[in-house]
Amino acid sequence: MSEGLLRDGFQRSVEYLRLSVTDRCSLRCDYCMPAGMKFTPNCDMLKFSDFLFLVDIFASLGIRKVRVTGGEPLIRRGILRFLRQLKEIPGIERTVVTTNGLKLYKMAPHLKSAGVAGLNVSLDSLDREKYKKITGVDQISKVISGIDSAIEAGFAPVKVNVVAMKGVNDDEFLKFAELTRDKNIQVRFIEFMPATPSLWSSERFIAVPEIKKHIERLGPLVSADKEKWGGPAEIYKLDGAVGQIGFISAVSRHFCESCNRLRLTSTGQLMTCLFGKGDLDLKKMIDGGADKKTIKQAIRETVFDKNGVRVLPTAAGPGEEKRSMSCVGG
Ligand code: SAM
Ligand code: SF4
Repeated sequence: MSEGLLRDGFQRSVEYLRLSVTDRCSLRCDYCMPAGMKFTPNCDMLKFSDFLFLVDIFASLGIRKVRVTGGEPLIRRGILRFLRQLKEIPGIERTVVTTNGLKLYKMAPHLKSAGVAGLNVSLDSLDREKYKKITGVDQISKVISGIDSAIEAGFAPVKVNVVAMKGVNDDEFLKFAELTRDKNIQVRFIEFMPATPSLWSSERFIAVPEIKKHIERLGPLVSADKEKWGGPAEIYKLDGAVGQIGFISAVSRHFCESCNRLRLTSTGQLMTCLFGKGDLDLKKMIDGGADKKTIKQAIRETVFDKNGVRVLPTAAGPGEEKRSMSCVGG
């Protein structure tokens, strides 16, 4: 296999790595964090120097885009310095961050100067009481001013992630879509995934075609151009709107055939599929003193075995907290 081209056994080229730099979070979203979630002790987490060492190897294998996520990435001490260093790694063309937005009102300009090219901010309700009910904290105003600070800092567009949930926020879809009329944001409706089966129910699930129908009450959705690094979202615009509306059919129409991503957890587990298990323990390799060449080969072999099509988890039970989105970074 040639240097700089990471391909799996289905000939998909893999260029995108998501790093969950911590499983801890400042929120407790009821659809994401199972009760009794046990957080990883610091000693079991990858140090930032380990992440940098590994990203350097991944970049030499062809990874070009890195997303830093969590848990909440902006609460990990030293994150800005880490982001700057990440950006310096030869081969890495784009670093982006997914955040709950609580710290953005202060950090947005610093993220911009650290070389972060894109921001995704999670916000599932525009209503103070409902936001508090979903997340466990009464801080929606911080997130909203954080989004404005990010726009001011020059993130264009700021992507706003909305997990669509029937009976929870479906009465707010139009309000979210209306925000795009005069704000340079991309509101992205994401299908609720059964990542942690005990937190998911079919009654709460609403598929993209139904969400789209809701939004079309505001007028026709015009297909918009995708950016170079755009993922599986379908992107549209309302007539005359500044911002955009995206739909991510993570459940109803999987995009496994074009999946180009890998995930690395805060404990150093390489995951080749969001719904898989840790496929390679890179922390163990680092702690055992493995050299770059050995790690590189192990990554190649693991990626070669990447799933063709994902299998959604169905059974709840002991240990399921390990499948929380806060551990794998969404
Ligand atoms: N804490 C950060 C945040 O909330 O943006 C980053 C981590 S969070 C796990 C990443 C994304 O995953 C968020 O947009 C969140 O809404 C989404 N997410 C979490 N659980 C989900 C689920 N079951 N289905 C769909 N998206 C989910
Ligand atoms: Fe934290 Fe993000 Fe999960 Fe909410 S979705 S609990 S903010 S990791």
